[in-house]
Amino acid sequence: MKLSGIHLILTYQCTRECEHCFVWGSPFQRGTMALDNVRHVLVQAEELGTVEWIYFEGGEPFLHYPVLLSAIRTAARMGFRVGLVTNCYWATGKPDCTEWLGPLAGLVEELTISSDWYHWEVDLREHVRNACAVAEELGMHTSVSSVVYPGCLESGQEDNALPTVEVPVMYRGRASQELAPEAPTRPWLTFTSCEHEDLRDPGRVHVDPFGNVHVCQGISIGNVSSATLSDICSEYEPDLHPIAGPLLEGGPVELVLRYGLNHGQHYADTCHACYEARVALRGRFPDILVPDQMYGVKRELDPLESLKVG
Ligand code: SF4
Repeated sequence: MKLSGIHLILTYQCTRECEHCFVWGSPFQRGTMALDNVRHVLVQAEELGTVEWIYFEGGEPFLHYPVLLSAIRTAARMGFRVGLVTNCYWATGKPDCTEWLGPLAGLVEELTISSDWYHWEVDLREHVRNACAVAEELGMHTSVSSVVYPGCLESGQEDNALPTVEVPVMYRGRASQELAPEAPTRPWLTFTSCEHEDLRDPGRVHVDPFGNVHVCQGISIGNVSSATLSDICSEYEPDLHPIAGPLLEGGPVELVLRYGLNHGQHYADTCHACYEARVALRGRFPDILVPDQMYGVKRELDPLESLKVG
């Protein structure tokens, strides 16, 4: 397993609760990386010798701006190429964007703006335009990742000048509950492979605030608080992994059959069938199907408190 990219889930907290969110981002969500933990992962990534890119994402990483800025400075100083994913809630005007993005100039190579234009109000669309304009001025490569909702042929993007990449909904995480019930479905026996992640030889993994190393969000192959990334990568045997193994052999169908799970007759897509099977298996694999955040289990916090609690 040769990693070229590590995606740090800096926080599970977000300003929004998008229906398509894989990680159940929310203002009420717990789990934020401390700077020491970020640096620990960066050192381990450096030791691997193969990692080129570090992406910072969430949740919404700008909610913890001082930590984000310091972590990005460290990653860039260590020679990593840096990418950043945000919903740009902070882009309230171009001068404001310069304040937020200016310190990141020369450090962040790629800025991805996650924007679901069907649910965003007019002023938030303006945020996207502001962020794109200023990021480009500062020399960041910028793209807008826009989720296409079920029944919609296109995202509703109105500004063709923006560098928009439209992506389909994947029905895992919150989308499995919020969007799948209204989506077109296929018979369950047709979901015989994982179509979106290379579980055999993942080129990238996600590391979350609890140290979990995910090959797909919610499927852990180890924890950096108890093992090095190098050991986790070298010891990963995809065919023997209790979740990745069946998925490689026959997709969510094999996961259901292997563990004798109850199942529905139809699912919206492969990720929907996979996610529902994994929810049913959490009790059997409590160290692998983690953390609670990825499965929509959250302890409600007061919104102000939630911005302080890691
Ligand atoms: S099928 Fe499962 S493992 Fe594959 S991308 Fe979808 S949720 Fe992830």
